[in-house]
Amino acid sequence: MFILRNKQQLAKAIDNAKALHPKVRMIEFGEYQVTGSTGNVYTVLCYRAGGEKIVDCNCPSRVPCKHSAAALALHVHVAARRGH
Ligand SMILES: [Zn+2]
Repeated sequence: MFILRNKQQLAKAIDNAKALHPKVRMIEFGEYQVTGSTGNVYTVLCYRAGGEKIVDCNCPSRVPCKHSAAALALHVHVAARRGH
């Protein structure tokens, strides 16, 4: 899990995600299922808590992982379309 603090962090993670092409499926707004390079499926939650944007992936990585980035890219896209 990590807290999204700046756009640079987001842009870097999304670049990594693009290079790896993980598959992302939206379960509902804020909840995504991402298939990693080894075929493992991870669940990523994007939500706000205490004024912070939280991205929570259930993979073992402690740093912003590609699953989080891929889910976040879709989340930002959907949020923009919904007008949030
Ligand atoms: Zn992950």
